[in-house]
Amino acid sequence: METCVFCKIIQGEIPSSKVYEDDNILAFLDINPVNHGHVLVIPKEHHPKLEETPDNVVADIFVQSKKLMQGIKQALKADYVSVSVVGTEVPHLHIHLIPRWFDDGLAGFWPTRKYKETKEMKEMADKIKNAL
Ligand code: AMP
Repeated sequence: METCVFCKIIQGEIPSSKVYEDDNILAFLDINPVNHGHVLVIPKEHHPKLEETPDNVVADIFVQSKKLMQGIKQALKADYVSVSVVGTEVPHLHIHLIPRWFDDGLAGFWPTRKYKETKEMKEMADKIKNAL
């Protein structure tokens, strides 16, 4: 995709701090990290949305993410690594791997809401279940 910032990183048109690369996958540091060492893992094929990405590509990036998590944890002596697929900014599938320390001061990752009552929560679960 000509206008995709992550495709430009893959093509070498935009610089990146690479931590891993193979024929199908690239991993590099997020330019605005939640914590230092925040890595993005992307497939080299341009797929905008996880839910529309072929299973083999999804499997590939998650298996590689697992290996990268082990490396991040070891290299940075992180207590654990958070994994998320956010996708609010760049429409090229990517996995965020964020090193976390128990004392890093990040209480929660994003703002949360409450369900008014258990019934409302059950109805929501049923709604999704019925669509599967
Ligand atoms: P999101 O699409 O919400 O998952 O967020 C996209 C992520 O990509 C953000 O965390 C940005 O900081 C990161 N990002 C955007 N452009 C670059 C870039 N040129 N190099 C590294 N990270 C980037």
